[in-house]
Amino acid sequence: MTLPPDPNAIQQTLPMTTGLDFETFPLSEGASVYRFDTGPFNWYVIEEAGRITLVDAGFPRHYNVFRRGLMAIGRQLQDVEAIILTHAHADHMGFIERLRRETGAPVYVHEADAKAAQRQLQLPWATLLINAWHPYVAGMLTHATRNGIFVMPPIARVQTVTDGVRLDVPGRPTIIHTPGHTPGQIVLRLAATPIILAGDALITRNILRGTGDTPQLAASGLNSCSHQAQRSLNQLAGMGRVALLTGHGPAWRGDMDEAIAGARTRSATSTVKGRHRHV
Ligand SMILES: [Zn+2]
Ligand SMILES: [Zn+2]
Repeated sequence: MTLPPDPNAIQQTLPMTTGLDFETFPLSEGASVYRFDTGPFNWYVIEEAGRITLVDAGFPRHYNVFRRGLMAIGRQLQDVEAIILTHAHADHMGFIERLRRETGAPVYVHEADAKAAQRQLQLPWATLLINAWHPYVAGMLTHATRNGIFVMPPIARVQTVTDGVRLDVPGRPTIIHTPGHTPGQIVLRLAATPIILAGDALITRNILRGTGDTPQLAASGLNSCSHQAQRSLNQLAGMGRVALLTGHGPAWRGDMDEAIAGARTRSATSTVKGRHRHV
């Protein structure tokens, strides 16, 4: 029997004997999204009918967390069917190339980020470095270094996707192109559920200060074009009540239009800008 998705009943933290914690969001019987929070960096495992889609991948050494996570949900490497990169920033690309080589799973990325995904160290460095005096950013950079950012291989082979495509992989996500954080930033809307995986198009923690737990845009200096990021929010309007799973920060539940309105207000009043960048 397939259960109807219920966004009000989806939070559950599993105590793991491995010392591993992740949050489970049931989709239907035999299908769930698992949210892994490795420091300030989130990534997700979608399980459906025993098969796996990985969405983003932290840093290279988070691979060990991924393997333990697979074991905890009773799955194995050969169950990995697809890998989706929400955008080509190094804090999301982590162990993708290793997993791609080990499983042969295709790596899907928007065509506008495909070239960047095949290069190393893709991050808005100027803004991160001028904010490195702040303890939160300093801690994030230390975490990135310890977890292998400087030894991360680029992704050797990708398959490009475009707006509106529904991938026939676990979770059956529809791709929504929301450029602005990067030119190829995408949001995933899972089939027949109110679960949205937003990457960094909408986040729930300020990446430069570690504050807040409400939907917001990344600070302007972290975006390829903040005006475009604002405009892209229109793509997400009218979705109703959702569970919003982001690249940074906790899950958020509520009406998507409320999330969008809040993000617009917060970015208009934000004082943490960093260095402004344009594509
Ligand atoms: Zn990013
Ligand atoms: Zn990020």
